[in-house]
Amino acid sequence: MQSIESLVEEVRRCQACAAHLPHGTRPVFQSSRSARLLIASQAPGSKVHASGIPFADRSGDRLRAWTGLTADLFYDAQKVAILPMGFCYPGRGTGGDAAPRRECAPLWRSRLLAQMPEIRLTLLVGAYAQAAALGPGKLEDRVRAYRDYLPEYFPLPHPSWRSQLWIERNPWFDAEVLPVLRKAVKAALRERRE
Ligand code: SF4
Repeated sequence: MQSIESLVEEVRRCQACAAHLPHGTRPVFQSSRSARLLIASQAPGSKVHASGIPFADRSGDRLRAWTGLTADLFYDAQKVAILPMGFCYPGRGTGGDAAPRRECAPLWRSRLLAQMPEIRLTLLVGAYAQAAALGPGKLEDRVRAYRDYLPEYFPLPHPSWRSQLWIERNPWFDAEVLPVLRKAVKAALRERRE
């Protein structure tokens, strides 16, 4: 069986949709066999593409504040995996970044997930990750009904600047959802399988 290290190397060499990536290929993700929390996200933005570090931007600051994860823990690949739906920066589309490249998830996602048997909780960050795991549905309805998806999944909005406006209109997210999210994240990182 292929090791996770050699699979990661294979992903890093991927050129499958290079012709559609205006800034070139640079897969940005983190993974390990021992990770217990999976952050299933959308696609790197321009800052993340430049640094090669997942969520090294304002969205990441927000996501760390939501989850209560320190930067040290967030970037500890032995505990936290980060797999966007598209691993490379897709460039700009109309009204923001383009959608994650659709070639990416079918190529790599299930192979990487098969190498991470310890995942306890998956944060579904944004509409693309939610659609992939749960099928069609409305993001806000899912975030409101987050308890229905536990203990496997926790649906969240994408922590982009737009979510700040959404949070101001939906104070229940801050007051009710985030405290439960922080507890679920802590429990997933603590828990061990028998
Ligand atoms: S987005 Fe995914 S499929 Fe496309 S080149 Fe990057 S790693 Fe490969």
